[in-house]
Amino acid sequence: MIPASFEYFAPTSVNEALALLKEHGDDAKILAGGHSLIPTMKLRLAEPAVVIDIQRINALKKISESDGKLIIGALATHHDLESSDLVQGKVPIVSQTAAAIGDVQVRNKGTIGGSLVHADPAADWPATILALDADIQIAGPNGERTVKATNFFEGLFTTVVEPEEIVTQIHVPIQNANTKGTYLKLYQVASGFALTGVAAILTKSGDTCQNIAVGITGVSDVVYRATGVEAELTGKSLTAENIAAAAEKAVDGVADILDDIHANAAYRANLAKVYTRRAIEQVAS
Ligand SMILES: Cc1cc2nc3c(=O)[nH]c(=O)nc-3n(C[C@H](O)[C@H](O)[C@H](O)COP(=O)(O)OP(=O)(O)OC[C@H]3O[C@@H](n4cnc5c(N)ncnc54)[C@H](O)[C@@H]3O)c2cc1C
Repeated sequence: MIPASFEYFAPTSVNEALALLKEHGDDAKILAGGHSLIPTMKLRLAEPAVVIDIQRINALKKISESDGKLIIGALATHHDLESSDLVQGKVPIVSQTAAAIGDVQVRNKGTIGGSLVHADPAADWPATILALDADIQIAGPNGERTVKATNFFEGLFTTVVEPEEIVTQIHVPIQNANTKGTYLKLYQVASGFALTGVAAILTKSGDTCQNIAVGITGVSDVVYRATGVEAELTGKSLTAENIAAAAEKAVDGVADILDDIHANAAYRANLAKVYTRRAIEQVAS
């Protein structure tokens, strides 16, 4: 349970961190909250020769509002997002998702940026960030680039972030009064990770579904948008029957449903449908 030895750097700016990443290449790893990296180093699943601790880059901790968007620094902790008045007031599903993560200790140290880059298939943030259609800002040796959440997650523990890049911000659109979001999950009792987590963002026009976005985690090796559910419900009246019929499509297109000692594939598929139905019912009510 003791990690292999490594060289430690603690830069105070993004540029300094990028220069270190450039210098050390694949040998280096960014350390944010450490709640995923440190356990994998202790298990020797990761043995970086260089650890670049970005906790002293205060600019990455800021949460603000600009141009109709919530701008969330990658180092904002789950607790910061759970407790921020700005976040609770502007995009409550973000606070709700943060509150659903792990325990107090995990929420005090873990960061949204670390969680997104780690891309654990049972992590909570990816479902909500996908459903919100957020943009992810990434700094690298060639400057900044912006990636849509739908293009960010590539597979099991894999995203588009390159070894020489750092996620700096997450830009979340602020919703209008007709739009409501919720995040519901069934916890794995030991860790708190999602056996299934469903984020639903619904825009209503009267009693009709004008637009719906559903992000699902814990079911596939990569988080996904339940496009079958979205297509089935859009333009339809939000009756219990229509919502239930749409929720039945929660795992459409998922080739391999996760199957492990905590929940087999059939159970997870059923959970996805049940939690999708409950989430939509909640935002429709
Ligand atoms: C006991 C326990 C319970 C947990 N329960 C849950 C849960 O219920 N739900 C849940 O979603 N998560 C859970 N987690 C995970 C937790 O949310 C972590 O915060 C998260 O996985 C990683 O964030 P971090 O800041 O700790 O990242 P780190 O561990 O520091 O880094 C993770 C990975 O991301 C990279 N990285 C980090 N930040 C950046 C960045 N800005 N740019 C580029 N690369 C970066 C690192 O190099 C590393 O590869 C749990 C963890 C523990 C230990």
